[in-house]
Amino acid sequence: MKYFIIFLLLATVPSNWVQPSTSKTEEPSGKAKNIVLLIGDGMGLSQISGALYNQGNRISLERFPVVGFQKTYSLNNLVTDSAASATAMATGTKTNNSAIGVDGNEKPLKSILEEAEEKGLATGLIATSSIVHATPAAFVAHQTMRGMYEQIAGDFLKTEIDLFIGGGKQYFDRRTSDDRDLIEELRKRNYLIYDYFNHEIQQVKPSLDKNLAYFTADNQPIPAYQGRDYLPIASQIALEYLDKKNDKGFFVMIEGSQIDWMCHANQSPPLLAELKDFDRTIKKVLDFARKDGETLVIVTADHETGGFAINPGSKMKHLETAFTTNGHTATMVPVFAYGPQAELFEGIYENTEIYFKMREAFGF
Ligand code: MG
Ligand code: ZN
Repeated sequence: MKYFIIFLLLATVPSNWVQPSTSKTEEPSGKAKNIVLLIGDGMGLSQISGALYNQGNRISLERFPVVGFQKTYSLNNLVTDSAASATAMATGTKTNNSAIGVDGNEKPLKSILEEAEEKGLATGLIATSSIVHATPAAFVAHQTMRGMYEQIAGDFLKTEIDLFIGGGKQYFDRRTSDDRDLIEELRKRNYLIYDYFNHEIQQVKPSLDKNLAYFTADNQPIPAYQGRDYLPIASQIALEYLDKKNDKGFFVMIEGSQIDWMCHANQSPPLLAELKDFDRTIKKVLDFARKDGETLVIVTADHETGGFAINPGSKMKHLETAFTTNGHTATMVPVFAYGPQAELFEGIYENTEIYFKMREAFGF
């Protein structure tokens, strides 16, 4: 009888009264130790839908519990370019199209990557374009024009970035604006350097007492539909390396650069190949984050490209696609978040908020 009364008492306790002790373990408690920002250049909602249906109604983005939208317009144009939008996400400031890490008055802006460096975290950049191209450039460089590739390469030497992987080797070692060999300079600054000519990505063996650079092309890497497949494995190598290298945490930006280019070209099968490559990369990152438990993963785009559409007559795995332009569009783009502080990314907000939300997630 005594036990029955205790049972009755427990059963009648209001549910909100017992909740605090049970929900404690479910709350994504503290700050994010690590942040992985994945940018699908030009990847709007239609591109994501295209990838989903092309892959038989399955995509890694379905594993993300939090979804938001960002407004992509730049300081001087409703239709942004990748330089202004990457600068907005990297630094929290809207700037003019073509500007890399500087504001509308050409004043340099500190990026989240540079702040992470200052706080003693490990940092990295990975792209399927040249590493001096607009999107990765905005996280380390400060130049008024995105086409200043040799100057942008020079800016890599002004940082302590732990890892970078991408094309653009020629802007480091065969420069026209000066005689510097930045590859030699990087070696002197404790970088272990690999390039595509001598090593496959699988042969890259990071050393924890050195920084790491892997050049995947002299200029632009080939597209995915022609066989480029390094992004998922490069991302995995980078996450394991950055995680071991530094116990304070890390920030890394990983870009699916050529989604944008296939949309500019209005080429649907090559676009779907880029999206598949990016989806494989997202899966690798999510698998790492799930095991790690302290990694915030954000997937978004810098803008939509092509005004991509999935038209009537489409079937699962057989899409009837169309484009409205060979340029960018001003449509909002989705933001997906997973891990500690993911809930910050709910709602509709400016692209500059990505920066402030990342800072808050880190506790900067
Ligand atoms: Mg880009
Ligand atoms: Zn573009």
